[in-house]
Amino acid sequence: MSDLLLIDGSQGEGGGQILRSSLALSLVTGRPFKMENIRANRKKPGLMRQHLTAVKAAATISGSVVSDVEIGSQTLVFEPGSVSGGNYTFHIGSAGSASLVLQTVLPALMMAKTPSVLTIIGGTHNPMAPPFDFLQKVFTPFVNRLGPNLKMELIHYGFFPAGGGEIRVHVQPAQKLGPLQLLKRGELISRQARILDSRLPEQVVENERKLLLHAGWSDSEVKIEKVLNSHGSGNVIMLQLQMEEITEMFTAFGIRGVPAQRVVQEVVDRYRLYWNSKAPVGEFLADQLLLPLGIAAWQNSGTSEFLTGPLSGHTVTHMEILRQFLDINITVKECSANQFLVQTG
Ligand code: ATP
Repeated sequence: MSDLLLIDGSQGEGGGQILRSSLALSLVTGRPFKMENIRANRKKPGLMRQHLTAVKAAATISGSVVSDVEIGSQTLVFEPGSVSGGNYTFHIGSAGSASLVLQTVLPALMMAKTPSVLTIIGGTHNPMAPPFDFLQKVFTPFVNRLGPNLKMELIHYGFFPAGGGEIRVHVQPAQKLGPLQLLKRGELISRQARILDSRLPEQVVENERKLLLHAGWSDSEVKIEKVLNSHGSGNVIMLQLQMEEITEMFTAFGIRGVPAQRVVQEVVDRYRLYWNSKAPVGEFLADQLLLPLGIAAWQNSGTSEFLTGPLSGHTVTHMEILRQFLDINITVKECSANQFLVQTG
């Protein structure tokens, strides 16, 4: 096999992002890769159901050849075929995150020759993954500014651990991704605090509502949304800020046994950290924007740049994978204690 790239899955964060982004980049560039030590730094290393679905999904949209893999596999060889747009349905078969399976196949499908409709069945609101609303309200508008057109639909909610949710993504591709500049937020237009309530005792969500009011959110900004069509119980708090140039969102998940006070504190802390940094791009969006912007740089579309707060270890690892696959420059300049300029080109 020519040009086989060796990727060490234990580098940096040593988690699933190394695998997902390697699959995505292999499909886009046509470069085969071998990965060892998959998710070596996780409590249960190797492929979990979500990662196995991502591998299979990547192979399905492209006729790629994959070495024998199963749950727990820590080594994989992936030889990419050619990507075809189309109608695809992927079942994770657990509450594994639908967003993370989407992350794997979306870059290639948004650059395919023909449109796609993707249906993914699994978790739609999982801790440690972009909730559906983040993909729809925060991530999609930026992808659409790069050239493709995405439309996201939530068919059913799926909360951890019951899963069984469903998202549908309509992808109108663009063969070349444009560069992007994101250096300011613009004025704040509106704030929204949404509390998702699937089969919870009324007292829990009411308590969360009061705690948000106490943290400075107004009565008209805080909404409790009853979810009627999910398989299991669930509780998510999402703080959304719509600004002139960007929408950002901060999330915390209610977990049985964790006091509402802790859940509200977590999400409010995330929001304040972002707000005080004055940078437009939050921690998770920075992480997720890198993939399309790295691809745009690889296509010689010009330099992209954005201002963000302190970079997470996850993002730093992600940058390293992009460098290994795409051979592009990614630079980070500290502009002030809480602001960093990231440039890809
Ligand atoms: P795994 O846990 O499967 O090994 P990983 O360690 O790479 O994978 P995470 O660190 O959990 O996974 O990150 C997964 C992805 O989810 C990243 O793209 C990150 O930006 C995104 N993400 C995590 N939490 C949020 C959130 N609250 N809002 C938006 N995006 C999020």
